[in-house]
Amino acid sequence: MDDIKLVYRVFEAFANTSKSRYAFICDMKTDISRWSIACVEEFGLPGVEMKGAGLIWEECIHPMDRERYHNSIVDLFEGRIDKHDMVYRAKNKSGNYVACTCTGTVIRGEDGEALYFVGTIDNHGIANEYDSVTALYTKQKLLETLREYRENREKYYILFVSAYNFIELNNVYGYEFGNKILRCFADHLLDYIDDCEVFHAGGTRFAIVSSERELKDMRKLYDELLHFSRHSIEVDGLAVTLMLGGSCTEVYDFCVDEHTIYSNGIIGLDESMYEKHGELVIFSNNNRDKSHEKIVTINAIRNSINAGCDGFSLRYQPVIGSESGKMIGAEALVRWNKDPLGEVPPSDFINWLEDDPIFYELGLWIAKNAMKQWKEKVLSVNPDLKLSLNVAYTQLERVDFRKQFLNIIDEIDFPKNRLVLELTERCRLLDKTFLRNEIVYFKSQGVGTILDDFGTGFSALELLLFLPVVGIKIDKSFITNLDIDEKKQIVATAIIKCAKDIGMSITAEGIEDSNIRDMLKEYGTTYFQGYLYSKPVKIDEFMSLITVQI
Ligand code: C2E
Ligand code: MG
Ligand code: MG
Repeated sequence: MDDIKLVYRVFEAFANTSKSRYAFICDMKTDISRWSIACVEEFGLPGVEMKGAGLIWEECIHPMDRERYHNSIVDLFEGRIDKHDMVYRAKNKSGNYVACTCTGTVIRGEDGEALYFVGTIDNHGIANEYDSVTALYTKQKLLETLREYRENREKYYILFVSAYNFIELNNVYGYEFGNKILRCFADHLLDYIDDCEVFHAGGTRFAIVSSERELKDMRKLYDELLHFSRHSIEVDGLAVTLMLGGSCTEVYDFCVDEHTIYSNGIIGLDESMYEKHGELVIFSNNNRDKSHEKIVTINAIRNSINAGCDGFSLRYQPVIGSESGKMIGAEALVRWNKDPLGEVPPSDFINWLEDDPIFYELGLWIAKNAMKQWKEKVLSVNPDLKLSLNVAYTQLERVDFRKQFLNIIDEIDFPKNRLVLELTERCRLLDKTFLRNEIVYFKSQGVGTILDDFGTGFSALELLLFLPVVGIKIDKSFITNLDIDEKKQIVATAIIKCAKDIGMSITAEGIEDSNIRDMLKEYGTTYFQGYLYSKPVKIDEFMSLITVQI
């Protein structure tokens, strides 16, 4: 068998193992390539064997990413580089852009001649059935399973577990080690439980679903997992203690959908981890039970979004320049209010709602309505004032977010230099390079971004060097009691100095007290925000604040 045939047979053996990771191999002398069938089908390419595939593929790439891609391929074929590694958007057969990471290498013969260009393309737009870190079923599959239970009207229990010291472990031992812990926990779930379905439910969460077990069995299972996580996890020879939290929901009212069940479980999980030191939180969606109220709220909020975001409104909280003492802009904050439930603060719904695909619609509604109000009312009185919008990680990770967001800006003809995007804490969970690319993109469009909630979760100072943001907003947990807490003073001074030296702006939020404001001013804070100046208010009240200032 000649070499090329053998190479192709080897290629076939691994090219068709995944729906979302494609492989390609190109004979650089003939420019004939072979591609994974899944890629050919997904993007409507002419066939698994193509001549001039580089140019064919280029047609699928987003016009704004095309030049970058083209230059890299030309450099590669002309021998200037041997490696290709980039993220770009490519249009699939249905006309939707998906984010792809493409990595490839030139293989040279003994005489240095370029023989093959081989590599892989990861399609981030398609959810795989299995999670790559834990090898468990993904959240996508979990939601599908819950839907099937509902359609079959089958009663079941769902137990969510996660560890509340995970961020700490990640920070101390690093991301790779963190992944190994997750894997070890997942392996135990698979080994130990054979009569339930086990899922990776996003981030560091796991879900265990059973239609066979009773509540007492689920409790017993949770107790065993608690014991295992405290005493039996060993990674790279190191004993690791996971502090678990858990929530268990009994589902036998089939009127609410799987997203509501999921969100309810996550709220319970957070309550267990952050308020109850890991005690199991139990819900029933039987409407005679008090724990049913949460499910009713989630369902109502989701229905509101489905009804065109009816019930949502916006408030604006002024941002003040520390030197001038004058307002320089405001942050838009969302509210939800609907009878008979009344007003529910975002702290009660944002966390779980951000994880729900439906949040995407609400995010666009917020952006559109805030920009409209700001342009019509605020900018006509003071054209310098800036509008800050919060952006959640689930918005940012959607490939069409950039495009849809810019469409809104264009539609409203909003001045881009009067817009700031606040990337909320969980955006730091996204892949760092991906996050950086998004920030660079918005920057290239004239829209600045800042890191919100700085000082909490994953807020390493090294991020400031890597991410080209224009500023940071120090979380209010750092600001509260700053005047009496020496440790907070040391950390706040260090964060502010570091950001300032790099040339970034520093906003301090949650300022309620003028002593603390004065201390922060001395440390070099650029902007202030907090009840000391104003609570978040409706647009009409906000307009009267501007008028007073003028
Ligand atoms: P955030 O972006 O860090 O917003 C600041 C929160 O602190 C707001 O709470 C604000 O009302 C509150 N706050 C401001 N000044 C003070 C103060 O002096 N003292 C105290 N105790 N609190 C103060 P809110 O409106 O409840 O929002 C909570 C979080 O919900 C926000 O935190 C943000 O992460 C999220 N959120 C709110 N609106 C939106 C939105 O439109 N989109 C997205 N993605 N997230 C939003
Ligand atoms: Mg914010
Ligand atoms: Mg904040």
